[in-house]
Amino acid sequence: MYNDYKSLTHDKALTALPAPEYLYVPLSQHIGAPAVSLVKKGDRIWRGQLIGSADAFVTANVHSPVSGEVADLVRIRNPQGKLVEAVKIKNDFQDAVDPNLKRYPPLAELDTENLREIIREIGLVGLGGAAFPTHVKVSPPKDKKVDTLILNAAECEPYLNADYRLLLEYPNEVVQGLRLLAKAACAVWVVVAIEDNKKDVIAGLKNCGVEEFARIALMPSVYPAGAEKVLVKKTVGRRIPNKGLPIDVGVVVVNVGTAYQLARSVQTGLPLTERAVTISGEFANPGNYWIRVGTLYQDAVKLPENFEKEDFRVVSGGPMMGFALAALDVPVAKGTSGIILLRSQVFTETNCIRCARCVNVCPLGLLPYRDRGLEDCMECGLCAFVCPARKYLVQKVRQDKIAKHKELSK
Ligand code: SF4
Ligand code: SF4
Repeated sequence: MYNDYKSLTHDKALTALPAPEYLYVPLSQHIGAPAVSLVKKGDRIWRGQLIGSADAFVTANVHSPVSGEVADLVRIRNPQGKLVEAVKIKNDFQDAVDPNLKRYPPLAELDTENLREIIREIGLVGLGGAAFPTHVKVSPPKDKKVDTLILNAAECEPYLNADYRLLLEYPNEVVQGLRLLAKAACAVWVVVAIEDNKKDVIAGLKNCGVEEFARIALMPSVYPAGAEKVLVKKTVGRRIPNKGLPIDVGVVVVNVGTAYQLARSVQTGLPLTERAVTISGEFANPGNYWIRVGTLYQDAVKLPENFEKEDFRVVSGGPMMGFALAALDVPVAKGTSGIILLRSQVFTETNCIRCARCVNVCPLGLLPYRDRGLEDCMECGLCAFVCPARKYLVQKVRQDKIAKHKELSK
């Protein structure tokens, strides 16, 4: 039994982190094309104003997280280390909301087409980390049919509690958002996949009427119960084919934050401009926070006193699937689920001893020691975690995928 370190922030209620003086809102925060900037240096902007327009199908709108002035259009590194265009905003600390924000009709009056349009307008993406645009997910191509929507409420990464807190503190919004997402995707069946140790949350969801339209599927509280391929197999018994997606077996998987955000946006008109983030590990301010998109990590975290003297790594996301950062001047994006500070552990790779531990733990039945045929690998990190030879198994998969991607884009 391993420590999942969730107890560090498990009981910390979501609180708003004050927005900083300058924010850097990336125009590319998701898979697909970057949004096109609609503002220029010196423009006055409102909170919630559209500042980056989704001009392609696979992309998402970007809105201002504060009111203030456009200080510049800059290039900045995102948490994955890629240089992207960003709007630098000087906060006027008024939080003046865009007076032109849409007012949406009551939930019961929204049909599938209205909902897909709202999801596109508010810039909704998968808030679990991958940040795939949600309007694309719920609008399958004609040759694919969705019959099942799964809410991924199995937040299995160690340290992370942002989804847990959302479920505990805002069950009504999550249930309403789930209902709307099911309508948008035309799903016949809805499943809430949740770890069996979340009894408090399950009770809250039931009180909000989730069982009127969804089945609760209990998952074991082990990593990686929340990985899409594992989740779909365990909850509806369908195996996603090699190199395939849930949509290939008629399933759409959505995250807790995504469901919450849709309900909130429909209620208030305010698009996606902040998100729940767990700050944990050895930071001086562990907790669960509402953080405005575009806040630099260095403005969100309080470093421990021994930070300069000891060797730490800051990880964006969870410790298993997240990215170690080279610097803290990167902005919180829509897909940022956690910011974790870990003591650095350096291992020396040695020769494979053919123990097969990596094979035994791989949830997808792959052969990680072979270095080949791992296109389906979901980079869960379990094989590297158990490997006694400390082989850089996941790094090699990532490097191969990047090399293949570059080859295909030539
Ligand atoms: S190969 Fe390793 S990282 Fe990939 S899915 Fe299997 S255990 Fe996870
Ligand atoms: S766990 Fe490591 S040492 Fe064992 S077979 Fe896999 S790669 Fe080799």
